[in-house]
Amino acid sequence: MKEIIDKMNAIELQTRELLEKAQMLENQKNLMSTLMECSEFDHTWVIGNITSTLTEIHQIDVFCTRCGSTASHVVHRKEYAIPIYSGTEEPLSTLVGEEE
Ligand SMILES: [Zn+2]
Repeated sequence: MKEIIDKMNAIELQTRELLEKAQMLENQKNLMSTLMECSEFDHTWVIGNITSTLTEIHQIDVFCTRCGSTASHVVHRKEYAIPIYSGTEEPLSTLVGEEE
């Protein structure tokens, strides 16, 4: 009896592992399918989080709504920060002064 139960448990375990593997392969297939679309139509970027002060941007995160890819531009040095301009195209840093 114990041998039969052990075999049943082993089969159940193997079934679970195969289902997990099948799900993983299905996810990979979906990713490849959406990547193929993005290779044809380009990614559909949406802006995610932005880290900034009043006068400059230090980080921009984007993600693709089709394939789920992400990209992040992080500025590590102050001189490479992206300046923010007013509606009249003046740098905010000259309007309000440098922040720190
Ligand atoms: Zn994409």
